[in-house]
Amino acid sequence: MANRILLIEDEEKIARFVELELRHEGNEVEKAFDGREGLDKALSKDYDLILLDVMLPQLNGLEVLRRIRLEKDVPVILLTARDAVMDKVSGLDAGADDYITKPFAIEELLARIRVALKRRGKGAVETHQLTAHGVVLDEDRYEVTVNGEPVELTNREFELLRMLMRNKNIVLDREKLMNEVCGYDYIGETNIIDVYVRYLRTKIDDRYGIKLIQTIRGVGYVIKDN
Ligand code: CA
Repeated sequence: MANRILLIEDEEKIARFVELELRHEGNEVEKAFDGREGLDKALSKDYDLILLDVMLPQLNGLEVLRRIRLEKDVPVILLTARDAVMDKVSGLDAGADDYITKPFAIEELLARIRVALKRRGKGAVETHQLTAHGVVLDEDRYEVTVNGEPVELTNREFELLRMLMRNKNIVLDREKLMNEVCGYDYIGETNIIDVYVRYLRTKIDDRYGIKLIQTIRGVGYVIKDN
């Protein structure tokens, strides 16, 4: 559960104080005392979060941030001087997640760290994969695999499969499926859906010996749980 935090701060007193507090909270902390050292560490290791002072020797914090962002998506909180409005604006523009103004109360810093970690963590675990009977449909990549093997589908076959997998265990009638797959302005027979189901069965059911899409006579189709 320990988070690995990189602290890039040239003022040793502040660095030591923040480090102690972060460790006290159960985090692992590494320090860097100038922009170049900080950038090297940020790029060569994986941290859960980076605390980055703006006024740094060698390379200023905003430049460090810009270069980190070229390669990494790690959460970054800027430590800015009081009233340095320009720093805050350009910092957020350059991809900082948040900033905190010195001098700060440690509780506020810890709270902002928690928020930044939570926000990123949530995004990271969110996947858009639908699964049934060894079939995995990845909505982000527009890919379908069966037992790990990629299956080539046309757009309409993909949309039909997606619709059925999103509504697992719910029988969908042909008209609803047609509206979703072909669009509401599609003019044609609803048996077009039967045609696409047949294509899907040829590409998936027949080839892999599974019974993915079930016909509910007189109604429509459904994918049931395993
Ligand atoms: Ca400084």
